[in-house]
Amino acid sequence: MWRARCVMAEAVRSDWKSQLRDILPDFFGPPPGPGGASSARPLCVPECGEGWAGVVDRCCVRIAAALQFGESFRFESIRAHQGALRIRWGGRLSAASEAAVRAAVDLAEARSICVCERCGGRGRLYRADDVLAARCADHAEGVPAVRPEMENIHLTQVTVRGRLRVVVAARYDYDSDSFVRIDDAARFGRGEA
Ligand SMILES: [Zn+2]
Repeated sequence: MWRARCVMAEAVRSDWKSQLRDILPDFFGPPPGPGGASSARPLCVPECGEGWAGVVDRCCVRIAAALQFGESFRFESIRAHQGALRIRWGGRLSAASEAAVRAAVDLAEARSICVCERCGGRGRLYRADDVLAARCADHAEGVPAVRPEMENIHLTQVTVRGRLRVVVAARYDYDSDSFVRIDDAARFGRGEA
């Protein structure tokens, strides 16, 4: 009985992509079935581990909240690359909505590094055979890829006004799910010695 329940739980967990499609048909297409319109554009299917389902979901909620009536948005790809989520998107958006979407995507990509791609637990970046992966301690292979003092440091674009953006150094804070700007960026190897 326990075993049967366990298998069922696995089946449900592995179906997170169809759950996303059911919850967010605007982003991932309507569920297939009679009357389901065939789309000219292939639907985006996330190509990453189920551990990042929550990261993707959180990003979608932020984007949905940012979009205004009449604007268009689509995911072009959602995939894992070098241990981080990489999201490509397109659309016709106002400057304000575009800034909000960019911020949501930057936060999701930064958060993914802190979340095990296998199980969704708290993770960090590991390197094994020159391949980077975000893993928890239980699923880790290889060695930590980033020195502790450099973990979660990002160069990220911040919208100043309209569509004008500048690059700033920031530390991603997992608990608040936000970037904390670093003023002395020179300490992190980008400035003059
Ligand atoms: Zn894990």
